[in-house]
Amino acid sequence: MLDDKNPAFTPLSEIGEFGLIERLKNKTKRNLPSTAIGIGDDAAVLNHSDKTQTVVTTDLLVENVHFDFTYTPVKHLGYKCIAVNISDLAAMGATPTSILVSIAASNRVTLEAIEELYSGMQLACEKYNVEIVGGDTSSSLSGMVINITAIGTVEEGKAILRNGGNDTDLIVVSGDLGGAYMGLQVLEREKQVFKENPLVQPDLSEYEYLLQRQLKPEARVDILPMLNDLGVHPTTMIDISDGLSSEILHICKASNVGCRIYEEKIPIDPSVFKVCEEMKINAVTAAMNGGEDYELLMTIPVTDFEKIKGNPHLTVIGHLTGKDLTPYLVTNTGEVLVIKAQGWNTYK
Ligand code: ADP
Ligand code: MG
Repeated sequence: MLDDKNPAFTPLSEIGEFGLIERLKNKTKRNLPSTAIGIGDDAAVLNHSDKTQTVVTTDLLVENVHFDFTYTPVKHLGYKCIAVNISDLAAMGATPTSILVSIAASNRVTLEAIEELYSGMQLACEKYNVEIVGGDTSSSLSGMVINITAIGTVEEGKAILRNGGNDTDLIVVSGDLGGAYMGLQVLEREKQVFKENPLVQPDLSEYEYLLQRQLKPEARVDILPMLNDLGVHPTTMIDISDGLSSEILHICKASNVGCRIYEEKIPIDPSVFKVCEEMKINAVTAAMNGGEDYELLMTIPVTDFEKIKGNPHLTVIGHLTGKDLTPYLVTNTGEVLVIKAQGWNTYK
């Protein structure tokens, strides 16, 4: 599908930039009330209600830096690039409404590949109730580059920032961690096997959960409404794109606090432990430093503990600290390690 020499597929040069945009426009139209003017004019026009603020985020994805077509299905890539931007808005407490998509593709990319990419994007747009309202299209002399901008709204003054943490707050994480990173390790391993022997068809069924975490992550837009229902108001929130270590450091730095995270509390799926054992990787390292899980990391007042206790979507993994501003990880053996952005010597 990426190969323009294959007569089954249409080279982009055959339909041209405007032909492509026209097709994408028809493919992505949703008529959401947030869209006044979508694709087709010089800029999009978005509807706004009083007393809301606009929240905007953008992400740049470069072929062979952020994604690899050897093992990334194009449709999954489309889904993922929308989902990860929605995740950033969710982490601000915002409701996503609109998406801008800019792509630069080399001439080996066909119309069918771009349409497949947009099919994945459209699927995510339906799931998260957003609409693609514009973008830009260019050619690239090397790999593909995708830039996504997501726009959302939040009630005035209600955005959840990184700097609201207080020294006794509990640190809470949604879902489980380390799966996406181990999914990537499985894919990288299979890529090597395939390079050496292209005839081997891998059976990846036992890794399904990990692969789904890597290839089709979901944004946790369900968490904040659930917390609202419980009457819990997070003091900080961030999405876990780079791994628990660097995210908790962001919160500590912005809130001017330290923390204690307890290794035994970190939620890790049994399948992560299993593949970590197979690959001789420490599962806690995968959770702390792996990234791309797109779960939410937040802090809540300690007085709200009873409201979330036993909640299957949330795990308390530690607490912020006041006097000592160092971020610590307390291991299962009681050792106290300083959390660094990537890797600690003990687990190397
Ligand atoms: P301009 O010359 O002003 O950049 P374009 O011809 O690039 O205009 O874009 C025309 C319309 O199509 C605009 O509404 C733009 O937002 C939209 N558009 C362009 N490329 C894309 C794309 N890859 N995905 C979605 N919308 C796009
Ligand atoms: Mg343009």
